[in-house]
Amino acid sequence: MGFTNSSLVTYKKLTGDYNPRNHAIDTITIHCFVGQVTAKRGCDYFFESDRQVSSNYVVGYDGTIGLSVEEKNRAWTSSSPSNDHRAITIEVASDTKPPYAVTDAAYKSLIALVADICKRNNIKKLIWKNDKNLIGQPSKQNMTIHRWFAATDCPGQYLLEHMSDIADQVNEKLGAATTAVKPTTTASTDAPKSIGGNAMTRGYFAKGDKNEGVYAYKQLLIALKKAGIITQAVDNNNIFGDGTVTATKQVQKAAKIEQDGYAGPITIRACYTLLSKKI
Ligand SMILES: [Zn+2]
Repeated sequence: MGFTNSSLVTYKKLTGDYNPRNHAIDTITIHCFVGQVTAKRGCDYFFESDRQVSSNYVVGYDGTIGLSVEEKNRAWTSSSPSNDHRAITIEVASDTKPPYAVTDAAYKSLIALVADICKRNNIKKLIWKNDKNLIGQPSKQNMTIHRWFAATDCPGQYLLEHMSDIADQVNEKLGAATTAVKPTTTASTDAPKSIGGNAMTRGYFAKGDKNEGVYAYKQLLIALKKAGIITQAVDNNNIFGDGTVTATKQVQKAAKIEQDGYAGPITIRACYTLLSKKI
């Protein structure tokens, strides 16, 4: 297998603290550096320190990305040789106190870097379950954390709470399905997540939509208001705004269906049903 390094790297200073990798890369391990360093400062630290610690990459608070141990080599990061032989380890500049928060710039660079690592190493999707029992089973979970292998707070509460979001954002870049379920779906909701597409083709209208379908839907709402079924007025235009959301929820309440503010087939049918009772 051919190992490469990320082209996103802005600083390179290789430390001698590593071993040749003995396993294919199939895992990502994100750490908190405990210090708001630049990538240069972090890499220089690993180069100079005699603590025998290292990391494949360092992400600086300013979004800089440093290479300290090449991907072909195993870094000394996670207190677990077997983890680090199969993982790319990344130290992210963080506060020195709980929750060890990282800057927005570091977070953004981290996501770009992880997506790049996954692409080059053929990791199709990041999976985070926060389950220590899945160590070594990358098909079920391919993100690990330092605290599973040693008595440490690493990666800190901030990064820990963001692992799912990191996975979702990386997966979006990889074109893999995300774990996010928005909006939720039940038998009576109008926003089935199985229906993809744009505002016209996904199967329902939602706040922010602006098209002729919304216009037609709003004519129904205007008729419902005239009939006294709802109280919320909507403008005679093609924009799904706050008023349309409120009016939609009033329709859904009147029809005794889920009040989610999305207008799909169930809600539109309910409009006709409610109107027909009045006519
Ligand atoms: Zn760590």
